[in-house]
This record gives sequence, structure tokens and C-alpha cells, in this order.
Amino acid sequence: MLPFLRSDLAQLVVYTPHPGGAHAAAEEAPMAIDRLDTNESPIDLSDELKQKLSWVVQHELEANRYPDGAHMRLKGAIAEYVSESATLQAPITEEQISVSNGSDELIRSILIATCLSGEGAILVAQPTFSMYGILAKTLGIPVVTVGRSPDRFEIDVIAAQTAIDHTQDPPIRVVFVVHPNSPTGNALTEAELEWLRSLPDQILVVVDEAYFEFSQTSVVGELAQRPNWVVLRTLSKAFRLAGHRVGYAIAHPELIAALEKVRLPYNLPGISQAAAELAIAHRDTLLSTIPALLAERDQLFSIWSRHPRLQVWSSDANFIFLRLQLGDRPEQAEVTLDQVFQQLRSQGTLVRKISGGLRITVGTPTENQRTVERFQKILETL
Ligand SMILES: *Cc1c(COP(=O)(O)O)cnc(C)c1O
Repeated sequence: MLPFLRSDLAQLVVYTPHPGGAHAAAEEAPMAIDRLDTNESPIDLSDELKQKLSWVVQHELEANRYPDGAHMRLKGAIAEYVSESATLQAPITEEQISVSNGSDELIRSILIATCLSGEGAILVAQPTFSMYGILAKTLGIPVVTVGRSPDRFEIDVIAAQTAIDHTQDPPIRVVFVVHPNSPTGNALTEAELEWLRSLPDQILVVVDEAYFEFSQTSVVGELAQRPNWVVLRTLSKAFRLAGHRVGYAIAHPELIAALEKVRLPYNLPGISQAAAELAIAHRDTLLSTIPALLAERDQLFSIWSRHPRLQVWSSDANFIFLRLQLGDRPEQAEVTLDQVFQQLRSQGTLVRKISGGLRITVGTPTENQRTVERFQKILETL
């Protein structure tokens, strides 16, 4: 290892964008790959919107100039969208919004603004989105982990509260939750929300609503009473803009000011800002495909939940989490799961193997049909 690198870096496990290996799979077999492993929208932007974006690139964006580093127009559009999609006493304003290069950047800004320099640790309930822990570790921030109930993946709030009460040097400063959770698809329950509401002001509660457009459940309406809460959203999922890397945070203006302070000055390229503005302006069209996608999800759920070899959880998002039920052979579970995963992959269906199960993104009807057929055949051989 290079002698000038931090000693803990060697142990750091990085996020693997396509753990099944989109490239590897494509090299082995030249076929269309169904990428159902990263929860993006299966539908690209329309030609019409791409042409509009090209027009902006051609006629409005100056490549030699820095982009708007304040993102005021985009913040205005986001504020309007967030306000119309929640029941609020007062509309959300630009001062309550920070925009980032994917919501991953905001996770890092939150960590920098709260826990860096030995000031705090974070709490996560596993299984959950891996980036909180990964980014914390890149910054040398301790990660405290608690579990979830095995049947419904509810956070073990007793263990979480105990961890908060007893963790010192540094204390827990931030609790990260996903609503609905990834990889398991469950939205926060009233009991979990009650516990989050009971946390004191010196603990920041991050509610990651990456899948809000699918679940339609949000805590944005509570932000006015809770200066220690921040909601994260992204345009990478329902808004079909994963390639343009746009995320945003909604919170109290003072917290937003802190996040803006620690970010890079030109964190979002002009083309990404333009794409985000266009997508939000055309939100009615873009989001109109969601009901059909949810119907596909429910159909997948109903097919797989009837299969004796599968344990499937209902989902509030655009993916489904399931585990194999091997009954008499639980000790082979991990090996068998890996075989199923590899077979799906070799047939051209990429899913995510995670937390002892598979997380499968809802794709187009054709992709879903293929997944059902391939999966069915593989399960028959078990
Ligand atoms: C996909 C996802 C994100 C989005 O990350 P971006 O950096 O905005 O693409 C954030 N949080 C969770 C839980 C996700 O699943």
C-alpha cells in the first residue's frame, strides 16, 4: 500500500455500482441485459425532452463559463414541486432547499457538517441503504448499527435508543432512515415515526425519501415543527434522471445554510441543472407512468408470494425484496442464493444480491415477464 495513504483505507469496502457486473455479463453473452439491480426507472426520457435538453445545451449553456453555483432557478422549481405534493401550512421556499450531485453528495455534506473531526457517530438500522455507512467510513466517522425485526424489517427502536443513550466519545449525532427502506421496501411505521419524533434536538434525523414518488408517503409536512429533521430526495428514480445526478435536501434554513457551506461551489453541471428543470417542468408526464409500474410491482408480488420456495415482502417502492425458502437446507441458503443470482445474471437479468436475499427492480412489462419466467425455471431446479 502507498505509504502516504490513510491506514484505514485498505479496509474500506466501496459501493459497487453493478455488483452483478453489467460489463462482465455483457462480455460473456452479447445480449440485452435487464438491469434490475439499481432501482432506476426503466423508461428513458422521451425524444421530445431530450431534444429540449439538447436545445438548451446548444443555445443557452456556455461551456466556457461556470454553471450557476447557487441553483436558484432549480431550487425554485423544486420548492414548487415539493409544496404541491405535500399538505403544508406554508409553502416550502428556496432557503429550505439544497441541491446536490445526487443525494449521495448530500449524505456526505450532512456527515461533514455534523460528525467530522471526532464530533459524532451515526446510527443505521440494518439492512438499509449502504451509502450512509460507506461515506461515514471514508470520513473516519464511526457507524453504530442496530437491527430490524425479522418479519417486517421494523427498526429495533429499543436497541436504537439504548445505543443512543450509551454511545460516547463520540456520541450519536445523526440517525439515517429510508422511507420506504431499501432494500426491504417498507415505509416507516407510526411506531418508528413516534420514536424519531422523540429524539432530542442535538440529534439530526435524516429521512431519505428516494422512493417518495412511488410510496407517496412523506414527512415533509412535519419539517416546520422539526428543525432537527432533514428530508433527502433524488431525481434518480421516478424522475428518470440517474444519469444526470441530481438530488436535493429539504430542511430548516439554518441546516440548509450549513450544508451549502460545506459543499463544492459548482457541484452540479449546467446540463444536469437544465435536465432537472425540464424534468420537473414536465413532472405530470414523467410521473404519470407510476401507477402502471406499481401495478406491475403488485403483480410480481402476487406471483412470487404464491411460490413455495420464496419469502416475499410487500413493497412501497419500485423494487421487491425476497428470500429463498429452503426449508430442510437452511445451511445451503447462501450458496443457493448465489447460484440463483448467477443463473439469472448469465441469462441476462441483473438483480441485487443483498442481506441474504434478492432485491429486484420493477422494470418494463417485458423485462418483468422475462424475470418471472427465468426465475421460475431456476427455482424448479432447486
Ligand atoms: C437510489 C437511492 C438514492 C439516490 O442516490 P443518488 O445519489 O441521488 O442517485 C438515495 N438514497 C437511497 C436510499 C436510494 O436507494
